[in-house]
Amino acid sequence: MAVERTLLLVKPDGVQRRLVGTILSRFESKGLKIVGLKMLNVTPELARKHYEEHVEKPFYPLLEEFITASPVVAIAAEGVDAISVARTMMGSTNGREAAPGTIRGDLSQSRQMNLVHGSDSPEAAKRELDIYFSAAELLDYDLNLSVYLAAGD
Ligand code: GDP
Ligand code: MG
Repeated sequence: MAVERTLLLVKPDGVQRRLVGTILSRFESKGLKIVGLKMLNVTPELARKHYEEHVEKPFYPLLEEFITASPVVAIAAEGVDAISVARTMMGSTNGREAAPGTIRGDLSQSRQMNLVHGSDSPEAAKRELDIYFSAAELLDYDLNLSVYLAAGD
């Protein structure tokens, strides 16, 4: 058990389908803490860095075309075992095979357009957070508001 940070993306299909709020809400509702958040266009260069393990695969040109097609939302999320917790919530790669109850299983029918990315190991999380966020864009903050006090402004 360790507090981890992970890189999550709402991919272009999620943005185009107006599922940003739904997907973000699922991670937030689970209890993951958002420590970085932005919308950006993935360039071909960024795509090749992010997906370096897939660049030589036959499907890579299609994947690059997809991930660079329109903006994504990048989320840095923190929590105990955040990397595996998020991966479990996402479901398996192919939306048609992903289990009901997972984000992909509930909302996607595609192997490529599967709505979300999540880092798959601590090494990948560090590498991918570095690709998408500068140090200044990752925020440390405490959950310290006395929101449960009845009195006061
Ligand atoms: P993930 O870790 O579950 O996202 O899956 P992978 O690391 O295996 O693949 C990265 C991404 O490439 C997936 O999320 C899909 O968007 C896409 N992808 C994976 N396999 C295929 C494939 O066989 N064909 C196509 N077109 N895209 C794929
Ligand atoms: Mg992967």
